[in-house]
Amino acid sequence: MSIAENKIKKFENNNCAENNVFYQAMEEVIYSIAPLLESDSRYARHAILERLVVPDRIIKFKVTWLDDSNEVQVNTGYRVQFNNALGPYKGGLRFHPSVNEGILKFLGFEQILKNSLTGLPIGGGKGGSDFDPKGKSDFEVMKFCTAFMTELHKYIGPRIDVPAGDIGVGAREIGYLFGEYKKITSSYEGALTGKPYFFGGSLMRPEATGYGVVYFAQSMLEIENKESLEGKICTVSGAGNVALHVIEKLQAIDAIVVSCSDSHGAIYDQRGVDLELLKELKLNRRVSLQEYVDTHTEATYTSVDEYPKNGHAVWSIACYAAFPCATQNELSEVDAQSLIENGCVSVVEGANMPSTSEAIALLQSHKVCFAPAKAANAGGVAVSEFEMSQNASMAKWSYAKVDEKLKETMQMICKRVALTAKDYGVEGNYVDGANIAGFKKVADAMIAEGI
Ligand code: NDP
Repeated sequence: MSIAENKIKKFENNNCAENNVFYQAMEEVIYSIAPLLESDSRYARHAILERLVVPDRIIKFKVTWLDDSNEVQVNTGYRVQFNNALGPYKGGLRFHPSVNEGILKFLGFEQILKNSLTGLPIGGGKGGSDFDPKGKSDFEVMKFCTAFMTELHKYIGPRIDVPAGDIGVGAREIGYLFGEYKKITSSYEGALTGKPYFFGGSLMRPEATGYGVVYFAQSMLEIENKESLEGKICTVSGAGNVALHVIEKLQAIDAIVVSCSDSHGAIYDQRGVDLELLKELKLNRRVSLQEYVDTHTEATYTSVDEYPKNGHAVWSIACYAAFPCATQNELSEVDAQSLIENGCVSVVEGANMPSTSEAIALLQSHKVCFAPAKAANAGGVAVSEFEMSQNASMAKWSYAKVDEKLKETMQMICKRVALTAKDYGVEGNYVDGANIAGFKKVADAMIAEGI
């Protein structure tokens, strides 16, 4: 039995359905880092892997709040403080009915290696709640956020743990959370990132994840001697923060984005999607994408019920590059097969772990350039760290400075991942390169810091 199979077997004993996504993320990392574990016995001697896959602590709490009908509502809140070997715990908050401990453990685990890849002093964590902001009034969202912070504030702080946004948590939610933190602690400090600019946020934080994904894609295609994205057909899934900014940056470099999706269905607009309309529908009015075809009658809308079996409408569209930016496991083996058959050259993950393990294996075996989320979408957390720096020094960086540093960071991550893959004999495998480079830095810090 190989070292990777041995480790996986050991951890599998604790497996349960809720933890499936966490084990999926963990298995991928273990297979990738096996050559490193075999070549350097320090990691086994210090039981680094055994220590890394268990969060430092999981905080779980009750959140009670009053809805607009004055009825008491009860939700569950979480903060998974996974690993702080490299800096304060850092990772977003997700508000979505699907949130549970397993999903947050998967996201927190990925966050450790992602944050390590940025080269910045940040550890890994994640949190959130099963609260669904969809369909709630602004007042209800505010009441939930203040109730959530009543408990969360005990565990966070600029040098302890600095949450940010994720699915269901944007500038509005961060504003309410920050307001309550400030009130309870009587201090105006950077305990949250993703704040609006006029009270402590960084310029470009909203754009950072999406723009960073495109910068990574450009860098990877250049290293792998592929063509540029200019004039190429690209498909994007999702219609939230990450997807909209991926679309915006792709359009800025003259790529043609023909799709997007939400949890109800997908749009295909052959002439290129209308970003202004998308922003109006998803950011201002927060309605279904179906309304897109009321304005653009030549575009098509496919509802999720019409998706092919185990597949997703967006990935059946022919494209040069695909950008999954909605949610985990949204690109299946069936989807990977259609992308390959339709000549797709590159898949760049904007969402966290949007591709299944089987899809990744198939894409890689067909030499599709595959960029894993923990490297490609690290721009968001990098600019969050820039926000922490600005808050700590009471400085305000210009848009141009943040953009330049973001671009540099994404190019640096890409080169480092590519070089690491080459050093470990898996040239072109960005999954293994990212896992090994991310793991090594955290592991070395853990050894140096003792048990
Ligand atoms: P948002 O809440 O802004 O948007 C999520 C989008 O995905 C929404 O349009 C949502 O549709 C859609 N969606 C959700 N589930 C599905 C599904 N099953 N099929 C198709 N579409 C779906 O979240 P973000 O854009 O912030 O996050 C997207 C992904 O990127 C997540 O994986 C997140 O963890 C990751 N990420 C985000 C970062 C950030 O800075 N925001 C940083 C790094 C990673 P609907 O409108 O119907 O809800």
